[in-house]
Amino acid sequence: MKYGFAKRVYHMQSSAVRDILKVVNKGDVISFAGGLPDEKLFPVQEVRKAFDQALLSNPKVLQYGETEGIPALREMLCERMEKKDIFRNPENVLVTSGSQQAIDLFARVMFDPGDIILTENPTYLAALQVFQSYEANIVAVDSDEDGMLEEDLEEKIRHLKPKCIYVVPTYSNPGGKVWSLERRRKLLQLAKKYHTIIFEDDPYGDIQFDESDTVPPLASMDDNKYVVYTSTFSKTVVPAMRTGWIAGPYQIIRMMAQAKQATDLHTNSLTQHALVHLMKEFDLDAHIRTLCKSYKDRMLLMKDIFDSGDELDIHYTEPKGGMFFWVTMPEDVHTTALLKDAVSNGVAFVPGAPFYVSNPALNTMRLNFTNAEPEKIETGMRRLVQVMNRSAAGVVD
Ligand code: PMP
Repeated sequence: MKYGFAKRVYHMQSSAVRDILKVVNKGDVISFAGGLPDEKLFPVQEVRKAFDQALLSNPKVLQYGETEGIPALREMLCERMEKKDIFRNPENVLVTSGSQQAIDLFARVMFDPGDIILTENPTYLAALQVFQSYEANIVAVDSDEDGMLEEDLEEKIRHLKPKCIYVVPTYSNPGGKVWSLERRRKLLQLAKKYHTIIFEDDPYGDIQFDESDTVPPLASMDDNKYVVYTSTFSKTVVPAMRTGWIAGPYQIIRMMAQAKQATDLHTNSLTQHALVHLMKEFDLDAHIRTLCKSYKDRMLLMKDIFDSGDELDIHYTEPKGGMFFWVTMPEDVHTTALLKDAVSNGVAFVPGAPFYVSNPALNTMRLNFTNAEPEKIETGMRRLVQVMNRSAAGVVD
């Protein structure tokens, strides 16, 4: 049987990361591939208690709920955002099934086929998947470790008239980098000058290793006109709750709420009520501090092992937060080929190429440091350094 799929499915691509995860999550392979938090650090008892409290509070928590999200949660989200100087009213907030849905709903209400979106290169793969599925044209802007380069950005905005600039400016996935204040200001200035919307994807902003490194979110530098901001509980509470939110100008949020009605009516309301109880009873900020400390230790462990392999010809910038190391190997190394060697030696990473919009650097890789426990990081990194050294010596199985 030949199924007559819609044309748009031919613009969809399977996630290379998810495909790799299926292969590497087997046997004795230590995986630095997935972008996963450590489940041993999940606040299981507190989540359980919060669900119990929600369930016992009122049978209505099991009823259909408002598409925008339950009011108590939207208020709490505003309070949390206010701590970052992002001032929004609950009516500017839509609770979503993870940030991923926020990206999808935004794309659905904003992009016609052929519309241009500017992104960093590399950038978050699953956002690219969303944009491709709406047949948008994704164009990469040149960037360095501080963010997008102003000249290229302005030229592309002027010539291509993009609908939106999508960025992950704080502890990015996959680059693990944080945009400087200067580049944030420039981006915002240009967005204002050319009336272009910025989509700020900020799932990792709270996973910060040093409080003195705080950089303001773009949304805090704007008066709720040009920046649409999304974040999530996936990295700070648990991903399985599938709860995130998006905050932005009311017209956009209202349009996205309409699109959400057609998608899933509303985000799981039992989970939303549980999150409200969790935030009332549990010191989420203290929990986030514990996560940050543990993740920073793991990052440093990985870094020490890289640094002690002094023969290694690699480049990376020490992450100041988030979950990833972005590593560049010598130009003649093809990390997709290296992955095969790595997996047969019991360790996995994600090759960098799939994260690029264009001109992929085939010698890059992303390593997650939050999922594996320290002992596993040590063993996995020893294996990885060995594989890297073998590749430098021209030995590949
Ligand atoms: N944006 C980025 C940059 C991410 O890395 C992720 C998770 N990998 C998401 C959005 C989606 O997160 P969630 O849907 O779990 O909230």
